[in-house]
Amino acid sequence: MILKNIRYIITQDDERRIMEWTDIRMEEGLIREIGRELSPGRGEEVVDLSGKIALPAFINAHNHTPMVLFRGYEDDRPLKEWLQRMWAKEGRLTGRVARAGAKLALLESLSHGIATTLDMYEAEEVAKAALEVGVRVATAPPLISVFAPAEERLKATERFHRNYRGNPYVLPVVNLHSVYTNDEDAIRRAAELSKRLKVPLHIHASETREEIYECRKKTGKLPVEYLDSLGAVWERSVLVHLGWVARWEINIMAERGAKAVHCPSSNMKLGTGGFFPYPGDNGWPRDGLRSVKQHPGPLQGDEDDGAHPEAPVLELFYCHGPGCIGCGHEGWGGGCGDKGRED
Ligand SMILES: [Zn+2]
Repeated sequence: MILKNIRYIITQDDERRIMEWTDIRMEEGLIREIGRELSPGRGEEVVDLSGKIALPAFINAHNHTPMVLFRGYEDDRPLKEWLQRMWAKEGRLTGRVARAGAKLALLESLSHGIATTLDMYEAEEVAKAALEVGVRVATAPPLISVFAPAEERLKATERFHRNYRGNPYVLPVVNLHSVYTNDEDAIRRAAELSKRLKVPLHIHASETREEIYECRKKTGKLPVEYLDSLGAVWERSVLVHLGWVARWEINIMAERGAKAVHCPSSNMKLGTGGFFPYPGDNGWPRDGLRSVKQHPGPLQGDEDDGAHPEAPVLELFYCHGPGCIGCGHEGWGGGCGDKGRED
């Protein structure tokens, strides 16, 4: 197939080249050739993309895909109350419905150019949905030790890894819900497992003021400090939200090479009141920390804070996203120095 007369191709190669009025030849889902005036072979399909932009697919660095089914429910409640109400609804969710929700969310994501999603939900159902849709998800069974013994969930995580290791569409991670839904032992063991399997450790952290207050009261430490003391802040940790993170905690993350995902639209939906200190503010380390902005997911309201074609935003999406998930943008020169998957 030839994609003809593309107005702009925005690459993410080392020079960040932008090409104009160019053609792309695709074969078996891969870019085979880029150039002007490519002539089609016999029977080769040609699609005219005059006036269109071609750019690498986006990565959503934090999602709970089946929750698209709860869109608009319980808006404007504090996180804890919102979670209690959601957990009650989720208790009645069957696997079939969760898969249908994941499929809907992944199709919706695809229509916004998102082809890879880091997810935290019913991993088997989400994995099957991704395989049906033909997009990538990075996921694993969520670890919530206040609901189920850590032992059981860690075994389920290992099983999930055995089943999907090497699958091009399902990238197994370790999903540790948060510091307020897990005890010390569960956090420590989840961190050890992510290091043993060499996969991302995906955690909600410092989302609300209540979380940091309670963590400090219980442990004497702020959430990122606490996670770090248990070995859970390392190169492949992906810490999500960080609306109430302290400057010295960001320094810890930068030292460890951890990744930050900020979720402005989710924070607005729940009115968490915190915000992630963007690069350049408050002495935030410019080079040390990899940070990624979450694309508005199914549950994050309608604000368009997604893709604007400005270089620094694209850097956030493209250069750090693959490092977050542990994969590259094959054929697009992505990755930007981030470590790809080692397996
Ligand atoms: Zn979340």
